[in-house]
Amino acid sequence: MAAQHFDPSREWAIERDKQDELASFRSQFYLKEGAIYLDGNSLGLLSKKAEQSLLALLDSWKEHGINGWTEGDEPWFFLSERLGKKMAPLVGASPEEVIVTGSTTTNLHQVVATFYQPAGNRTKILADELNFPSDIYVLQSQLRLRGYDPQEHLVRVKSRDGRLIEEEDIIAAMTDEIALVVLPSVYYRSGQILDMRRLTQEAHQRGILIGFDCCHSVGAMPHEFAEWDVDFAVWCNYKYLNAGPGGVASLYINRKHFHRLPGLTGWFSSRKDKQFDMEHQLTPAEDAGAYQMGTPHLLSIAPLIGSLELFAEAGIDRLREKSLQLTRYMMDLIDHELQGMGFTIGNPLEDKRRGGHVYLEHDEAIRICKALKENGVTPDFRAPNGIRLAPVALYNSFEDVWNAVQILKKIMKEEQYKKFKNTREVVA
Ligand SMILES: *Cc1c(COP(=O)(O)O)cnc(C)c1O
Repeated sequence: MAAQHFDPSREWAIERDKQDELASFRSQFYLKEGAIYLDGNSLGLLSKKAEQSLLALLDSWKEHGINGWTEGDEPWFFLSERLGKKMAPLVGASPEEVIVTGSTTTNLHQVVATFYQPAGNRTKILADELNFPSDIYVLQSQLRLRGYDPQEHLVRVKSRDGRLIEEEDIIAAMTDEIALVVLPSVYYRSGQILDMRRLTQEAHQRGILIGFDCCHSVGAMPHEFAEWDVDFAVWCNYKYLNAGPGGVASLYINRKHFHRLPGLTGWFSSRKDKQFDMEHQLTPAEDAGAYQMGTPHLLSIAPLIGSLELFAEAGIDRLREKSLQLTRYMMDLIDHELQGMGFTIGNPLEDKRRGGHVYLEHDEAIRICKALKENGVTPDFRAPNGIRLAPVALYNSFEDVWNAVQILKKIMKEEQYKKFKNTREVVA
């Protein structure tokens, strides 16, 4: 692909799409004619492969009834494990360390119930004040369940500027009162990447366990969980992984913890060959599979089968490379086209610290988002003043980015946003 020089013309965008070796994946997705979807960081689009694998699951039910658990092309009983194995290369894990189960929130409950082991002076959990609310609610309720007051026992690292969290500040907060650290890999607003390798090393040097919520990074960039020695990780599969609304989530457990009994067990925690012995003494699986609880939500897992095939074909390194080029291009265009219109780029500018989306701040962000939608561009709004724009490597083009910025420019020039109410919708 051409070197990263910048040219604001439409022709240049079209030329870059011609040179893009991942361009053909776009035709695998259901994109609306004339619309520009830039919200793959909230809900990835449906691909034909994901549709096919969902329909195939319905077929297996139609065809096999109860026998679908062990018969057919994708027997249900082992599907969570098989998909964990296919997911493993995306996160740098070995196959037994990943399981597809639960939701991000329930998986976080599970790992905190397992890895939060307050002892002696070490009774606190470390997170940060820009963390996703659900993650914070999990930590608060897990503390309450153990009889601790979250006000005192949940430590939240402060942001210096309301956008970013400095790694130095996190490390400084890793005191001998901290038992567990839970952080995002990429911040949902600013798109800042935390250096997971460094933070893991620093936590471990202090005898602290550490895990990450990777909802905003898996599928957008490579991870090396095993090499970094992260203790656990959770992520959802419906954002960059395009597994559909409410799609079943994923969980990584470092193999050095396989001897632990999960905090929350159920019959699907069993070793597969023991589960149907129906004993009252659980024999847990000897891998991440032990972190399952009940029957997998198969209809919500099925689209992931097809979706992961696309990731295997495209390769996560190539996807990350293109994603960086798209977000860089978007930022260059914003600088060039939207000068003096009140926008601030709120995400880190460096490739190393920037996730898969651009975070554009503006006092009129709510109304601008509404105007974008009316013009066929789907962004999302994040309170208080953020417009998230995610050009996704699998299905967005350079021309999409060019068009979106032109539409934004027109909205601002014509003050189109002024005709909308300055209130957030229920789902922003
Ligand atoms: C999307 C997201 C969630 C959502 O959790 P669900 O259980 O799927 O509702 C949680 N945490 C973070 C950081 C997210 O980005």
